[in-house]
Amino acid sequence: SLQDNLKGAFKTLRGKGKLTEANMREGLKMVEQSLLEADVSYDVVKEFMHGITKEALGEKVMLALEPSEQFIGLVNQELINLLGPVEDGLNLSKDINIIMMCGLQGAGKTTTCGKLAKLLMRQKVKPMLVAADLQRPAAIDQLHVIGEQVGVEVYSDRDNKDPVQVCRDAVAKAKADGCQVVILDTAGRLAIDEELMEQLKTIDRDVQPDHVFLVVDGMTGQDAVRSAGAFHEALELNGVVMTKLDGDTRGGALLSVKHVTGVPIRFIGVGEHLDDLEFFRPEGMAGRILGQGDVVGLFEEASKLVDEDEQKRMQESLEKGQFTMDDFRNHMQKIAKPGLMMKMMGMLPGMGQMKDMMAQVNQEEQAGQIKKMVGIIDSMTAAERKDPSIVDARRRQRIASGAGSGAQQVNELLKQYDMMKGMMTGMAGMGAGDRMQKMQE
Ligand code: GDP
Ligand code: MG
Repeated sequence: SLQDNLKGAFKTLRGKGKLTEANMREGLKMVEQSLLEADVSYDVVKEFMHGITKEALGEKVMLALEPSEQFIGLVNQELINLLGPVEDGLNLSKDINIIMMCGLQGAGKTTTCGKLAKLLMRQKVKPMLVAADLQRPAAIDQLHVIGEQVGVEVYSDRDNKDPVQVCRDAVAKAKADGCQVVILDTAGRLAIDEELMEQLKTIDRDVQPDHVFLVVDGMTGQDAVRSAGAFHEALELNGVVMTKLDGDTRGGALLSVKHVTGVPIRFIGVGEHLDDLEFFRPEGMAGRILGQGDVVGLFEEASKLVDEDEQKRMQESLEKGQFTMDDFRNHMQKIAKPGLMMKMMGMLPGMGQMKDMMAQVNQEEQAGQIKKMVGIIDSMTAAERKDPSIVDARRRQRIASGAGSGAQQVNELLKQYDMMKGMMTGMAGMGAGDRMQKMQE
């Protein structure tokens, strides 16, 4: 994977102490190779390499005390530049806001409509789903099933063969029913064709959606890039949703789609469940690509399980740069839902191995692991929990025997805490809270 290859590249740079131009070029070559292997299109790779080569060979990196750290930072920043900037929230200021989803068949349009409706309802916004895919009768049924799961009104008209008319009628109905957002689920084809594009253009012209989102399947690599280009030519897209980023993360396709359309990526789909939609954050994605984990994503995921007061308190202390052992303990307990644990382990750096291990133990044992960690934290004094850096060898031994574990396990826990703290506080402030706030304005 891109992640592993980049890690490899960094390792060769790391072991060598002071850098020479030759081994920096070696590292750059590996980055280039990795990007190409991850399905990033050639043009994008070229631009990317152009961006970082000059800087990587500059004095700032070459003469730095920790050149490899600088190099990773550089690659990270360049990935963020290419993926961003984000469009903050959705502007839902009008009485009625129309969002049109388009894309190839199977990309995930219908599912994304449901996910987005669910997300809006969590924000106390009332959406309506519209069955504008009239190609297959089953498509209408599918939307109704999803609408029922989410608990949202679905507009359909099985007797009407004209999707434009259906959309118009739906908007009128939405107004009458006091819905603030109308989400149009349009038809897709297996490949791009003229008829599909004409239909979408007509809806775009007649119904004048405020947002036209292209839904692309993140698993399809270069196909996704080609279709994105064609849709962007035909329609005025103003957002991309990339789905299926839960499996083998193809960060590559995301980079390329962004490059081809120049349109901001709004959301990513990370699973089949209707909760599996996340705001897109270049920082998180770049981190994922680099194997540094997506901490804000992790935080958002956990937040869904935490009540609002707790969330607010947490966000505030993070913004002040505070993340105590107590916060860590809370967090571990809240996420101690086995399925979620697995997902998060996959996101955290250095936890990949642990995730594999956990996949082999049963769910009870997984819960047991968390209990152990919490047990260790409970054996710490208030002062140690507030500032774990005071834990020396003697304290460590005392904590270990108090918790009935080994000093090694205490060390592991402290390491995980440090890592989490660094990332949580570093990334706080651009969390979900802000952006959701913006959606309401
Ligand atoms: P449409 O033809 O574009 O409307 O696509 P659908 O919404 O019907 O989705 C096609 C398939 O992709 C379904 O089986 C969905 O469950 C699945 N799917 C959609 N989004 C995601 C996602 O983010 N992750 C995963 N794993 N599957 C997804
Ligand atoms: Mg569909």
